Amino acid sequence: MIGRPDERSRLSSIDADQVGQEMHSFIAELFPICRSITGEGVRETVRRIGGRIPLDVSEVPTGTPALDWIVPREWNIRDAYVADASGKRVIDFRESNLHVVSYSVPFRGRLDLDQLREHTYTVPDHPEWIPYRTSYYSESWGLCLSQRQLEALPEGEYDVCIDASLRDGNLTYAECYLPGATEDEFLFSCHICHPSLANDNLSGVAVSTFLAERLARVERRYSYRFLFVPGTIGSLTWLARNQDNVERIRHGLVLACLGDAAAFTFKRSRRGDTEIDRTVEHVLRHAVPDQTVIDFDPYGYDERQYCSPGFDLPVGALSRSRHGTFPEYHTSADNLAFVRPAALGESLAVTLKVIEVIEGNGTYRNLSPRGEPQLGRRGLYPSIGGPSAEAEQMALLWVLNQSDGRHALLEIAERAAMPFSEIRRAADRLVERGLLAPVEGSPSVGSDP
Ligand code: ZN
Repeated sequence: MIGRPDERSRLSSIDADQVGQEMHSFIAELFPICRSITGEGVRETVRRIGGRIPLDVSEVPTGTPALDWIVPREWNIRDAYVADASGKRVIDFRESNLHVVSYSVPFRGRLDLDQLREHTYTVPDHPEWIPYRTSYYSESWGLCLSQRQLEALPEGEYDVCIDASLRDGNLTYAECYLPGATEDEFLFSCHICHPSLANDNLSGVAVSTFLAERLARVERRYSYRFLFVPGTIGSLTWLARNQDNVERIRHGLVLACLGDAAAFTFKRSRRGDTEIDRTVEHVLRHAVPDQTVIDFDPYGYDERQYCSPGFDLPVGALSRSRHGTFPEYHTSADNLAFVRPAALGESLAVTLKVIEVIEGNGTYRNLSPRGEPQLGRRGLYPSIGGPSAEAEQMALLWVLNQSDGRHALLEIAERAAMPFSEIRRAADRLVERGLLAPVEGSPSVGSDP
């Protein structure tokens, strides 16, 4: 079990730089695929994730109700371009899949420049960048290009081709389920519906995939479920089909925008004070120099659905830069250079620490609660002084004093202002020496592996 000291250190001992490089390579592999909320791009992405972790893939037909929504028609795109009178492509989907507004209906026609302009989108503040736009729920077509490209187009006639299809088909999503000692679940969710955008969608995919890879190799107390879903409609569809199982979700995190260089942002669950809220805040406070914690708001990613009042699940959201707050957001500048291997590695390490706390947290009872037990006689009193010996002793005293069967170790760590790992280690030693016993449902660490 991860709660056991040997497993815990094995899980967390990653070489963040090296793993960060591997995560970046995986993002680079997925980057060119043209994803949307449905279609072959999502299927191809899921196939590649499935090459690393065990996945159950679901195909849900167009028209299927998903709570108050309906699974839309499936969108696929083969090619798109704008060509000038000489036949030269002046806007070319093959150069960037961001050039086409996602869910554009098929179109072929000849337009003059003014007519063409009515269907184009740019980022005037960043004239070299191509914006990312969608039109999921209105039947239209559009093209995205840089302001420079638009300004360079001379008056004249242009051939426009959007070789797309929008037909009855399926919505694709995937989940990786790793059973643990209990059916209580830790849910991770990330969106897989953006085309060539690295931080917004692929960083979450990479952290989720690499987490699942590592968790699959260790014994687990909790069961883990990793959802790879198209944003909004994907999580709504999953929730609609799993309404009877959501009670098992004890902790959850939406993972997004975890590859840029900014400090971490944690957005609390709707309830705000659940174990996952307290755990992430604790880990960030002790693991990284700078972080922002914000209260829940009904915007952002799929936490909006998991935290809708009819579900109200204990699901927070972990990011570095927040969606919509960085200039590169939803533009071609959210590319492979914008996500950094070191940031990806650190995001994975922080998330693993969160799992360690959740796995190792529990409530204990001091078996010798009348007066302090004599630590020296049991080999628990440090013979050599110094700051680390002092901290070790304080951790023992805090655990002994607070373990009346009502205070969990995370609570004790918070009260003692010490990292959870030190409090957990003290509890292990006390269990080993027969001074502490787990309350039912808490991990019996310290026992023989
Ligand atoms: Zn987005």
